[in-house]
Amino acid sequence: MRRKIVAGNWKMHGTRAGTAALLEALLATASDSDSLCVVCPPFVYLHEAARFLEGSTILLGAQDVCAEAQGAYTGEIAASMLKDIGCRYVIVGHSERRALYGEDDLLVARKFAAAQSHSLIPILCVGEQLSEREGGQTHAVVARQLDAVLDLCGVHALASAVVAYEPVWAIGTGRTASTAQAQDVHAFIRARVAGRDASIAAELPVLYGGSCKASNAAELCAMPDVDGGLIGGASLKAEEFAAIVHAADQSKSQ
Ligand code: PEP
Repeated sequence: MRRKIVAGNWKMHGTRAGTAALLEALLATASDSDSLCVVCPPFVYLHEAARFLEGSTILLGAQDVCAEAQGAYTGEIAASMLKDIGCRYVIVGHSERRALYGEDDLLVARKFAAAQSHSLIPILCVGEQLSEREGGQTHAVVARQLDAVLDLCGVHALASAVVAYEPVWAIGTGRTASTAQAQDVHAFIRARVAGRDASIAAELPVLYGGSCKASNAAELCAMPDVDGGLIGGASLKAEEFAAIVHAADQSKSQ
């Protein structure tokens, strides 16, 4: 039985006061859930967020991590530092990092490995561009992104990781994948991992991300291979995010 996970990617939004207010509101509305709730504020607010969340059921994640362990990498943040301040999760390979900062599959896989070397749980984002979907390449793109991690880290690395299927055309656009489209790719991801280890695949949480909101979360989370959501825009509104968490709670787990 896989527990649902709802993770909020706050991206580069907010202020110190706004972060505190959002966390207070989430503690009041989303911390009583059966689903696992994760928030990923910007780096500079993580330390304070960790203090706010201490002792609560809401867990902390970062939005990115450096592939290197330490050293002369100006501006970068190491996995050991994230662990040191109380992070449990880290997003790797978000499509904005891939598209805007040129992160390729190998770098993403190295970030995944760096995260796990400090016991952080990577949330590996995969997903196709619109042109790739229209060209019938969705499975090939997702397979390539997934295989980069499987090849570098081995299938056992997926035993303590999360995958997020995020069709790039659905991110921040208001256009959500249909439940059938999401289920199709989620089942494909699970089957791809099962090709290497069936029991790891059966336990792997695969989240959906891309314009997920309170009004569509329940139907997405009810799909057999959808184990929750990675939420962008809607994670910045406490009420909306809490409603998604509660929608995930209601949906039947596998
Ligand atoms: C995301 O960027 O991870 C995301 C899912 O964004 P949104 O929910 O805003 O589409």
